[in-house]
Amino acid sequence: MRPFSYFIPASLQEALAIFQREGEGGRPIAGGTDLVVQLKEGGHKFPYPRYLVSVRRLPELRRLEWVEGEGLRLGAAVTMAEIEASPIVRERYLALAEGARVVGSRQTANMATVGGNLCNAAPSADTAPPLLVLGAKARILGPRGERLLPLEEFFLGPGRTVLEHGEVLVEVLLPPPLPRSASAYRRHTPRQCMDIAVVGVAAFLALDEAGEKIAEARIALGAVAPTPIRAHRAEALLVGRPASPEVLGEAALMAREEASPISDVRGSAQFRRYLVGVMTEAVLEEALSRARGR
Ligand SMILES: Cc1cc2nc3c(=O)[nH]c(=O)nc-3n(C[C@H](O)[C@H](O)[C@H](O)COP(=O)(O)OP(=O)(O)OC[C@H]3O[C@@H](n4cnc5c(N)ncnc54)[C@H](O)[C@@H]3O)c2cc1C
Repeated sequence: MRPFSYFIPASLQEALAIFQREGEGGRPIAGGTDLVVQLKEGGHKFPYPRYLVSVRRLPELRRLEWVEGEGLRLGAAVTMAEIEASPIVRERYLALAEGARVVGSRQTANMATVGGNLCNAAPSADTAPPLLVLGAKARILGPRGERLLPLEEFFLGPGRTVLEHGEVLVEVLLPPPLPRSASAYRRHTPRQCMDIAVVGVAAFLALDEAGEKIAEARIALGAVAPTPIRAHRAEALLVGRPASPEVLGEAALMAREEASPISDVRGSAQFRRYLVGVMTEAVLEEALSRARGR
């Protein structure tokens, strides 16, 4: 690694002030499980940073708080281990707990943060599809003030987000779950653990009052496009239709069409597309069975 300055601010305001004072060439660092590896490899993904600002212990980024009528405030520096262990996340946002649970080893999960996972912007990031189907919004603070945007607008490409110099992802906001709704996430990896998703699929379903028709549906796909994506056309096929295996199957076929995978060492584009179909059907079935159980 090449030399760089390292700042440990005590507050978010101080962190933002450091970026202002030091100027271009700085990056936030949280758990370092992506960034340190990239720095050791020479920092090919971005210009090698002149300085790092640790956001890991900033109180504003460490909240995991249920606010009645508002939903969940999930600080960007909350770790995968904390998310997985949270009773509120398990009870109300199960797909997110399932995404956090598969990230790395126990050691990785104790360091890796949800904000780092999103800001690193790997198409395969395991918390991205769950957060997309759960209707997450990203709260960002920077030199030009605050912005709140749907997570879907956050990713620009592999390793690229809307974040500009000096901006910090503070938290992710999740609306309260709808009645008779549930979510699920699964990924395919050749190894059981310590692997990166070949395909990841999350689904969210809400049923109507009779529990027969689908009132709302969201599907998100990881590792099959330059960013994690929503499968909007598949979702549209579900809304207002009976929650039957045939309808779920139709949506899964549509999700296959919406994926635009590439071939790489983890799998061919053809295999990935096939997996999207099979996994979307399975994840929709899982979400449906959970929603019916409520
Ligand atoms: C052994 C191992 C296994 C792994 N397994 C998985 C896996 O199964 N699934 C998976 O998805 N990932 C996996 N990863 C990748 C990594 O652990 C996750 O992406 C993790 O969530 C990154 O979080 P972090 O806090 O360590 O981020 P860091 O490395 O600290 O930062 C990552 C990027 O985000 C930026 N950043 C961090 N926080 C903020 C913020 N609040 N605001 C603005 N920018 C910010 C940094 O500048 C950097 O560009 C693995 C990594 C390792 C080393």
